[in-house]
This record gives sequence, C-alpha cells and structure tokens, in this order.
Amino acid sequence: MSIITVELGARSYKVIVENGLLARAGEHLAPLSRGRTMAIVTDENVRPHLATLQASLSAAGVASEAIILPPGEGSKSWATLELLTDRLLDLGIERGDHVIALGGGVIGDLVGFACSIVKRGCGFVQIPTTLLAQVDSSVGGKTAINSRAGKNLVGAFHQPALVLVDPTTLDTLPLRQVRAGYAEVVKYGLIDDFEFFEWCEANAAALLAGDADARTYAIAHSIAAKARIVAEDEYETTGKRALLNLGHTFGHALEAEAGFSDRLLHGEGVAAGMALAFGYSARRGLCTGQDVARVTAHLRAIGLPDSAPAANINADGTTLVAHMLHDKKMDAGTLPFLLARGIGKTFVDKSVELADVTRFLDEQREMAAA
Ligand code: NAD
Repeated sequence: MSIITVELGARSYKVIVENGLLARAGEHLAPLSRGRTMAIVTDENVRPHLATLQASLSAAGVASEAIILPPGEGSKSWATLELLTDRLLDLGIERGDHVIALGGGVIGDLVGFACSIVKRGCGFVQIPTTLLAQVDSSVGGKTAINSRAGKNLVGAFHQPALVLVDPTTLDTLPLRQVRAGYAEVVKYGLIDDFEFFEWCEANAAALLAGDADARTYAIAHSIAAKARIVAEDEYETTGKRALLNLGHTFGHALEAEAGFSDRLLHGEGVAAGMALAFGYSARRGLCTGQDVARVTAHLRAIGLPDSAPAANINADGTTLVAHMLHDKKMDAGTLPFLLARGIGKTFVDKSVELADVTRFLDEQREMAAA
C-alpha cells in the first residue's frame, strides 16, 4: 500500500493506492459518513465497480445511494450539472457530507464541481477508475464542466477529502483508454524526472499489459509527483503547476479540431502535443533532435500518436493556432507554452510568438505530406 499526502494545510488529504482497495473502501469511508447515507456518483460503464463499492460500504455499516449518469464527455455539461445538483439536494446532502465520485476524469470533474457549489461547498471523495484519473485528474482539486465556448471553461478549485486508488479497477478499462492515460504518466518523466522517463521506457509495455507491480509503481510515483507540484502551487499562480500542462496547448488544439470526440482521446492529444512541444523546442534550439527522436520513439512504441497527422489531424497551422486562442491559459493576449531544454527539463515560456508556432505546425504538416 502507498499513502501519499497532498500537503495543503487545513485542506491536506491522503491518496491511498492499493490493489483490491475498492473491496475495503468502506473502512476508509465509514469515518466520513457520519452515520448518514453516502451518495455515489458514477457512470454506466463503471457498474461492476459500483457493486463492489456498495458491498464494501454495507459491510462497514454505511448505507449508500447511487446516481448513475451516462458515460462520456457529454456529461460535463450544464444540463448534467443541474440534474446532479438537484439529485444531491433531493437526497438532503449537507455541507458536512462527502459525495463519492466513482469513475474517470469526467465523473471526477463533474462531481467535484457540483460539490463545490452544493450548499456553497460540500465534501467529496475521489475513487478514480481510469488510468488518467488515477494518475492525474483525481488529485489536485481542479473541477470543471464544458461550456459552449470550450472545454473546462467553467469550474472551481475544490479539493477532495480523500482519494482511493485501486489499480485493479483498470482490468475492465479498454486498452485504448489505458494507453491514453499512460500519456499522463510519461508526462511526469518528461517534465522533470529523467530517471522516471527511463523507467517508463523499460516498463511501459508491462504496465500496459496489466503487470500489477509496474502499474502500481507508475500510479504511486505519478501521484507523488503531482502532489508535490500541487502542494507548491495549488492555484497555478507561481508557474510550478503550469508544468503539468506539458503538451496540453498543442494537444488542446488537436482535440478541438477533432471536436473533443472519441476521434482523439484527451491523453492521445496530450501525447501528440508533448511530441510537438519537444519538436518546437528543438526548432528553437532549446533541446536536441535526439531528445525529440527519443520521445517520439517511445510514444510510437506504445501506440500513442507522436504528431498531428499520427493523431489523424491534418489541419494547417493557422487553424490549429486559432483553437489555441480559446485556451483558458490565455493571459492578456499571450499564451504560455511549455517548452523543454531536454527530457526532464521543462519550463514555461511566455514569449512564444503564435506566428512562429503557426509556421512550425505548417512545416510539420509539409514534412508529413512529403
Ligand atoms: P472518462 O471519464 O470519460 O472515462 C473514459 C471511459 O472509460 C468512459 O467511457 C468511462 O465510462 C469508462 N470507464 C471509466 N472507468 C472504467 C473502468 N474501470 N472500466 C471500464 N470502463 C471505464 O475519461 P478520462 O480519460 O478518465 O478523463 C477525461 C476527463 O478528465 C476530461 O474531461 C478531462 O478534461 C479531464 N481531466 C481533468 C483533469 C483535472 O485535473 N481535473 C486532468 C486531466 C483530465
């Protein structure tokens, strides 16, 4: 078992990682239940795990009520938020209660946001069931829904009270989703941990094949990295937390071009985006062509896209940069970019000219077509 504490003063919380934890979740949740019925919010695809969780709560003497939403990004909407907050209020949720978010990043983001506004903020617990949610979205307190203007544009910082991670829940997750989540794992190596990148090169295949040790190590290591960064910069004001956005600006443009649909999963966009961030860094003379080749070779080896065309996006630079202008990181007309001086040496550059990024993306497109 690994226990990682996210150190945030009065809002500190534990992330527990353990194979089989879901079946014992009741022991950890009973103290938060205050003898009241706990609401569990999940989606249709997570039903088998809901049964395990409810059985474990029952065994610990805790009654529960499940709210089952449709799966998919579409649930991060005003309509579903309204439905969910109404259901929670109908259940009589109080500020001191803890709602359980059981699912991937969609459920975690939606439930976290609902809990930030119900009764001006009630408690919640994250039980992430996708690799992406286990290594990234369940920790750190960013919550959001999508709006007409774009993805994750309406939300709040609201930290969970506890995060329970059971890597065995990934046994039912489709391989494409596991791979997409892996992009966020290797991201931690690329940001500031060269040794972990080397570990990823050596162990990614085992991890994707479901090797329990590799999976658990990668999850606990990733959470520890995220916890350190969040503890330093909870509200993304000093620039430290912005490092977690490596690959996200390029990736966001690709995802937007794909209509934020199953055509390109978030992690797939991030993978191609990280390759583009390294490619652009090399073009600026910041890192070497060997660095780029090593990053792209690893992404390709595990079946993740390493360029816009590999992600089936053939739009030109102008189109992709236009998507970037809707990025929520836009700051008084400039867009901070995560660039790299090498693998594990990422930094924020606020002086990137979008015209130069446009040229770079057009060059990449021409090279792929040649
Ligand atoms: P998701 O929640 O849509 O899950 C992917 C799919 O897997 C869904 O169909 C879901 O029903 C299914 N699923 C979940 N667990 C399963 C399981 N154990 N077995 C079988 N199927 C299962 O997507 P995701 O990739 O987990 O999360 C993506 C979302 O996370 C995006 O909305 C993104 O914006 C958000 N995100 C948030 C943060 C943050 O810090 N808050 C960080 C990264 C991403």
